[in-house]
Amino acid sequence: MKKSNKETYGITEAINKCPFCGGEADISYNGSFRYVICTECNAVGPKKDTSTYPPMSNIKCYQDVIKLWNNRTFASKEISESTVKAYQEMYNIINKGK
Ligand SMILES: [Zn+2]
Repeated sequence: MKKSNKETYGITEAINKCPFCGGEADISYNGSFRYVICTECNAVGPKKDTSTYPPMSNIKCYQDVIKLWNNRTFASKEISESTVKAYQEMYNIINKGK
């Protein structure tokens, strides 16, 4: 099995499963932005910019985006709160009895 980015960075915080598809999520980056992304459906959590952090805060930045992902506070303009709610309800129904 491919090593996750989380393992590569030695981050021990648990990352919740994707609220949309229930898939495994991992940390990722684009330029100075850090975020959590679902490995199944590519849903992206709230992003944090490492350039707004003190130097050598890469891990701290990842821990923060994991916290945001786990709290499901999607502030993205693309995904409205009502959409997230609808998906969560769907997800709950699918996972009932599991
Ligand atoms: Zn997903």
